[in-house]
Amino acid sequence: MRAPRFAALASLVVLSLPPAAAGHAPADKLCPKCETTGRVANELKPRIAELEAKVLRCSALVESDPRGRGLPFLPCERCLAPSKQAEARAEFDPLAAEVDAWLANAREIDETLRPRRPFVHIETEHFQIAFGLPKVSLERRVTLKQHEAAHLYAERLEAHYAWFQDVLDYDDELARVKKHRLILCDDLRTLVQAAQIYAHLNTDRAGRAVGDPSIFVTWRDKSVFKKADEAFHRHILHHMTHQYLGVYFMKVWLVERAGWLEEGLANYAEMIHFGAAGNSCNIESAEEDMPDEAWASPTKKLVLKGEAIPFAQLSRKRADQMGRDDHLQAWSIVDWIMTHAPEKLPALVQDLKKDVPLRDSFRNHFGHSIVGFDEVWREWVKETYELEP
Ligand SMILES: [Zn+2]
Ligand SMILES: [Zn+2]
Ligand SMILES: [Zn+2]
Repeated sequence: MRAPRFAALASLVVLSLPPAAAGHAPADKLCPKCETTGRVANELKPRIAELEAKVLRCSALVESDPRGRGLPFLPCERCLAPSKQAEARAEFDPLAAEVDAWLANAREIDETLRPRRPFVHIETEHFQIAFGLPKVSLERRVTLKQHEAAHLYAERLEAHYAWFQDVLDYDDELARVKKHRLILCDDLRTLVQAAQIYAHLNTDRAGRAVGDPSIFVTWRDKSVFKKADEAFHRHILHHMTHQYLGVYFMKVWLVERAGWLEEGLANYAEMIHFGAAGNSCNIESAEEDMPDEAWASPTKKLVLKGEAIPFAQLSRKRADQMGRDDHLQAWSIVDWIMTHAPEKLPALVQDLKKDVPLRDSFRNHFGHSIVGFDEVWREWVKETYELEP
């Protein structure tokens, strides 16, 4: 604390003397452009300033401002106080170099994938996003162009991540990977390449690498998402739920050990935010098997028809083995947990990551054996969910 205070005091003294008498920098004169500070504010348009205040870095901002790179100040050009200008430059240049390095690093994705239109790259506290959608149409005929749409998705991702942290009651300390990378493509060719190169997967849908690094690549397949931005948004939140869960507490992926919980939570995220779900991670049958809809009524029908399987059986399925009915049931079990004892969910997840058997952990935290739970859950479904025709 002492050194900066002294420095501040010293500069105050220098400033309060007439430049000629300061002695240190005889060449300095009063500079009206910068009020003899050597720095001028880098003013952004209010709309841009508002967008950019919510993110750490944005390629569109940097590229729209080649001299200032969107940094808050610039060294005063042709300053009448050369020593002040030099001080400002010494502060500015490393910041500018950092931004340039960030941009060059982000643009490597463009150089590798050569998409039809360059990505907008945005970095936020928890995400590094390459956004390739040229525009996004929202309700009431509002259309956002690429740059603004990229910011919207950045904001949505941070909001969803905050929700997830809330559900599992943790902060970044328990996140084994603190930044997630997304590459959101607009065409199949770019997606296929991105999945191969960044997620080491051959896919024409979505690909992800869970762990370190955490990478999710997808594309806005118009045959799947139609024109609805909501469907694409929901698809991303489903998969990001897996990304977060994969690095929560321990870097252990539960898709094999507890597919019901992975999918149940991801579908719960869809239902709670959109009132509908429809994404699966089933690799054997197309997702057309899962129409986008509210799940309470079909789950109740499943129970009423006696077609729900025992929890013990469901719990042995891997995520990619789960069919639609399994998804409904898994979602509903998570819904039951979130209704009755949400505070126990973190302990359950941690137990499963530590390989504690589900039957022990479940009885311990929820007071039911997984066999006894079947009846409890079925009764609750019948009482709680509304049937729709
Ligand atoms: Zn921006
Ligand atoms: Zn100046
Ligand atoms: Zn899933």
